[in-house]
Formats: sequence, C-alpha cells, structure tokens
Amino acid sequence: MVQSYEFLKCVLDSIQDHIVVIDNTGEIQLVNRSWASFGEENACTVKIDWQGMNYLDECDKAANKGDEFAQMAGAGIRSVIAGQEPAFYYEYPCHSPEEKRWFMMRVTPFEVTQHRYFVVAHQNITERKLAEKRVQALARMDGLTNVPNRRTFDEFFKSEWQRCLRLKKPISLAIIDLDFFKLVNDTYGHQAGDDCLRQVATLLSRYAKRPSDICARYGGEEFIILWADQPLDQAKRLSEDILYELGQLKIDNVSSSVAAYLTASIGVAQMFPDHQNHMSVLLERADLALYQAKDEGRNRVKLFAL
Ligand code: GH3
Ligand code: MG
Ligand code: MG
Repeated sequence: MVQSYEFLKCVLDSIQDHIVVIDNTGEIQLVNRSWASFGEENACTVKIDWQGMNYLDECDKAANKGDEFAQMAGAGIRSVIAGQEPAFYYEYPCHSPEEKRWFMMRVTPFEVTQHRYFVVAHQNITERKLAEKRVQALARMDGLTNVPNRRTFDEFFKSEWQRCLRLKKPISLAIIDLDFFKLVNDTYGHQAGDDCLRQVATLLSRYAKRPSDICARYGGEEFIILWADQPLDQAKRLSEDILYELGQLKIDNVSSSVAAYLTASIGVAQMFPDHQNHMSVLLERADLALYQAKDEGRNRVKLFAL
C-alpha cells in the first residue's frame, strides 16, 4: 500500500502547500489538491484542467501583463532547470480583495529514470509576514509618544532630500526643544513628564499632514518637523502657530523662568538641496537657530540666517 500511487497521491493531497510538478520544459505533470483548489477559489486561469498546461508559459503570460513577481518566478524556475541554481526560493504577495496574503515559492529538482523534474511548492507565509510587518512598524515608531522615531526621520529626510534635489524644491526643518523640561520632571515627576511629551507629540503631529511632511521625536524632549516644498515664511508661521497652541495647552511648569506653563524654543532653517551641501548642513543650521532661540530667552521661533 505504502508504495502505491494512491497512497502517495493521498500524502501529496494532505499537504497544505500548493504543489505542482513540472518537467524541464515547464509542462505540468502533477498537482496536489491544495494547488487545484487554490486555483479554483481564486479564479486563476490555471484551474483543474491543468493537464497539458505549461507552467513557464503561464508565468510568461502574467509577466507580459506587467506582473513582476511572475517574471521573477519564471526566471527562478528557469535557473534551476538550467542547473545554474540548485534550488530557488521566492517570497511574493498574492492579495485577494478580502485579505492580504503572502506565499513562499520553492523550486527543487529531482531525477527519476534519467528524467529531471521540478517540484514548485507554494507555502502560505501570511502569518509570518504580518508578524514581520508589525515588528517593522513598531521599530519605526517612538514607544513613548507614538510618533516616528529618529531612525525613521533620518530615512525620510534622506529620501525627501533626493526627491527635492531632483525637483529643485526647498526643504524646511524645525527643531522643537521644550524649555526647562527638566523642571517639569523635577516638579511633577517623571510620569507627568512622559504625559507632557505625549501631549506635545500629538499636537506637533497635526503640523505634519502632507505625505512630504514628517514629525518625529528626535531625542528626549526634542522633536523635529520636516516640511518639503513649503515656503520659508510658511514654515515660520507654522512654527509660531505651534508655540501658540502649546501655550494654549497650559501644561504646568511653575518652576520655569519663562512662563508658568510649558513653552518651547524652535529653530527653523531652509535649503534647496544641492550637490555642494550635505543634508547635515541643513540640520546644523536648524540647530544653530534653536540655540539662538534659547539664548535670546526661549519661547520663540528663530530662523537661521547666514
Ligand atoms: P532647556 O530649556 O535648556 O532645553 O532646558 P531643559 O531642562 O529642557 O533641557 P535639559 O537638556 O537640561 O533637560 C532635558 C530633560 O528632558 C531632562 C530629561 O530628564 C528629560 N527627558 C528626556 N527624555 C525624557 C522622557 O522620555 N521622559 C521624561 N519624563 N523626561 C525626559
Ligand atoms: Mg534638549
Ligand atoms: Mg529642553
């Protein structure tokens, strides 16, 4: 029984991976039940009438319609058939209108009576992919304030710098540093300080609405906002609005020598990205403007001036 075709077919059909066996021309030799029922459920062109169908041709057809994953799959299978690769692994999305799904395709060769065949197995890896995406999303955010963290900002800044360089558009940066924040902790406790940071982050995030804006936590009580393609006077006005709104929140900081409530100092700088200047120059300029705002008495916006 164990050696019978019936038995081995039952084994194949009980496997949840979608399995198809092809020969070295791509012609389908055998499929398991999961593969056939997936095709049926998803109204694929490859349904149960798989006999005589060529897997590589199907990949090529999809690739010609612009499906880059089908193109990669076809190339990978061909590299195993040609003996250039011992096996091929490939992860790809296969979303349906109802749910997000990802699969891993594995191509492995075997030989029987001097004929080479290839097992193409598709494993559903959606759970792992979703878990990975959750971890990636968490790694991009600041755990306390739930706004993007510095690493995310750095990546965003880099890509906006390149984009604005191509389009000859300016980038404005505002560095927002809370005034005498240490005194908030000293007076009301660290927990109250944490609550303030969350409140401030929520307020600041509302000032980074466009896809080309970002508001991030840059350090302890320091935030940064990037506005791409925004006139400098507009960046200045937005920064002044931030100070006004922060004042309206009336977060107690009685020990501060500036006001009885929490205030901030903001340094703003703008540059048109070019090949002469590195993006760090813009950061330095915003930082210099911030120091000037602190020097001149805090609770104010300063623009960087050459
Ligand atoms: P300045 O006006 O010169 O900026 O004064 P400052 O007190 O704001 O600046 P300083 O650099 O002396 O202190 C920053 C304070 O921010 C000290 C630190 O405990 C606090 N801080 C940094 N990160 C956190 C945090 O995650 N939670 C809380 N509660 N406090 C934080
Ligand atoms: Mg600081
Ligand atoms: Mg500070």
